[in-house]
Amino acid sequence: MTFTSLADLVRDVPDFPIPGIQFKDITTLIGNGAAFQQVIEMLATRYSERSIDAIIGIESRGFIFSAPLAYKLGVGLVPVRKPGKLPADTHQVEYDLEYGTNKLEIHRDAIPAGARVLIVDDLLATGGTIVAASQLVEQVGGVIEELAFLIELTFLNGRDRLPKYSVHSLIQF
Ligand code: AMP
Repeated sequence: MTFTSLADLVRDVPDFPIPGIQFKDITTLIGNGAAFQQVIEMLATRYSERSIDAIIGIESRGFIFSAPLAYKLGVGLVPVRKPGKLPADTHQVEYDLEYGTNKLEIHRDAIPAGARVLIVDDLLATGGTIVAASQLVEQVGGVIEELAFLIELTFLNGRDRLPKYSVHSLIQF
């Protein structure tokens, strides 16, 4: 399926999941095979020469991009998940979301100490989720090479909460 720009394939859904939030719906992008492939190729090109030992994917839309990228780079995929989903010993962190609060967990033995990791999520909004995920990764001994997003909502200034890290996004709104 051809397309003109990745950004044009992201659908705006007003007032979802609560009034006042303009939800960026990526199902319209990943439903386009050529567009989905381009996203993964762009990320793989950026990271193939970098020293990355594992990809950290954030539940749940982060998994959509982290899994094919990890496969393509030939490195392990480590899930950061909502509470109660990971079966073995975990670290947990609670944080504020653009809408509501949330908790995330990682397996304590997910990565070897000193592993260089790339954290992948679908969208950077206020930055609360990625700050929490970064804390978890550092708690288990990971060294963060970069934070990668399909979409960045620049007007929410999420980057300002991440001065310690290199941040990369493919689409900015
Ligand atoms: P934040 O913690 O504020 O950076 O929010 C990022 C997380 O919430 C990502 O995992 C997104 O999937 C989700 N999210 C926040 N705001 C939106 C939005 N406007 N459209 C789609 N997803 C969003």
